[in-house]
Amino acid sequence: MAKNKKEMEEKHINPYESMLARFYSAADILNLGQRERDILSQPSKIVWVNLPVEMDNGTTKVFPAYRVIHSTVLGPSKGGIRYDMAVDLDEVKALAAWMTWKCAVVNLPYGGGKGGIQCNPKEMSIGELERLTRKYTRAMVDVFGVDLDIPAPDVNTSGREMAWIVSEYSQLNGGKFYPGVVTGKPIELGGSKGRVEATGRGVMVNALAALRKIGKKPQDCTAAVQGFGNVGSIAAKLLSQQGIKVVAISDVSGAYFNPKGFLISDAIKYRDNNGREGLKGFDGGEKITNEQLLTLDVDILVPAALENVITAKNANDIKAKLIVEGANGPVAAEADPIIDSKGIMAIPDILANAGGVTVSYLEWVQNRRGHYYTEEEVNARHDAIINAAFEEVFNTAQLHKVSMRTAAYIVGVGRVAKGLQMLGKY
Ligand code: NAD
Repeated sequence: MAKNKKEMEEKHINPYESMLARFYSAADILNLGQRERDILSQPSKIVWVNLPVEMDNGTTKVFPAYRVIHSTVLGPSKGGIRYDMAVDLDEVKALAAWMTWKCAVVNLPYGGGKGGIQCNPKEMSIGELERLTRKYTRAMVDVFGVDLDIPAPDVNTSGREMAWIVSEYSQLNGGKFYPGVVTGKPIELGGSKGRVEATGRGVMVNALAALRKIGKKPQDCTAAVQGFGNVGSIAAKLLSQQGIKVVAISDVSGAYFNPKGFLISDAIKYRDNNGREGLKGFDGGEKITNEQLLTLDVDILVPAALENVITAKNANDIKAKLIVEGANGPVAAEADPIIDSKGIMAIPDILANAGGVTVSYLEWVQNRRGHYYTEEEVNARHDAIINAAFEEVFNTAQLHKVSMRTAAYIVGVGRVAKGLQMLGKY
């Protein structure tokens, strides 16, 4: 994938432009007016700060950091915070807009936002990461808020960073405890049961719904999963629990292929015992590249790492019949016509990985009520929301004779545009 990233830079595939291409296709079908197009095609707010952080060796490093609010038409903005060297403004802008459409597709009372810090967390100590996270929270104290903008984990962030944000934000606001200012928290601090598994669970629920539509039984299917972090590893585990044979897994260290299928719990155990090295050295299968994983002859492909891994260059070589986008933006817009012409059903990110924000919403509701659900209750509510959204998108695709991706944009953009019209000329 490093190669893909290089190719991507050479070709300047801009994730924000990919988002806009899909937005305008849906806007045309929805017959949106110029006002709606102008407002919804750009973020409503961008905060860009450079954060000086004292490193363990006494030097000071300055980290560029962003929070982009794309829309608050349907509610407070919601979206994760990413720590990665590839973070830049266009990426965060695209991720923020995808959150708007995603929340609208699954009908949550939220707008969309996203944050990112350009850093390499793998090379930072826990103390450095905590200082960086607290600095970021201080810079965003007027942006974040339980009814304003609610972050969550994304690439390289987890409950640990969310706990630091709750701590810093609460101290900056008179010491009152504000668990609902972020979601994806540890259970002890008001997190929800089922949140850690939610995005992977949503991938699995979407995959099963799609298999029902194309008339395939899970136990007759194979899958390849790219990325073995929160989303990829849990999606792989839950897919295999449904009888789907997961024959390839991967992370930044490379991809691993075993035609007999992996016992995913073993791979998770290996990763967990391997510290920051992830799957590096895993010998449960033949070592292949991340590029080869994408074109394996499998039924289901789950890209669950980073964006733009499927482009016009490799889309023709995809053999899977079903793509379930665990990651945000794994398919560049230029690849859409190729995927459609091959008859591949691609469940787009804004539906496929919406399980995470769905359970984030349930976490936020629980924080506000001070009443907590059992894991069974969370999962049942999650599954009902995702299945209803899948049906709505599927029916929209049939009605307009368009792909699942265009249909999801029609549903999401349509809902936000309607809200915008109802708000009047604010
Ligand atoms: P994570 O940090 O837990 O895991 C990322 C995984 O991707 C790791 O296994 C990493 O090794 C792998 N990876 C990184 N660079 C790679 C490369 N070049 N090639 C192959 N693998 C590589 O992140 P995550 O939370 O699992 O997020 C993954 C994707 O899912 C992102 O696009 C994120 O925006 C999206 N997403 C996450 C959530 C969530 O709840 N965590 C929700 C919705 C969408």
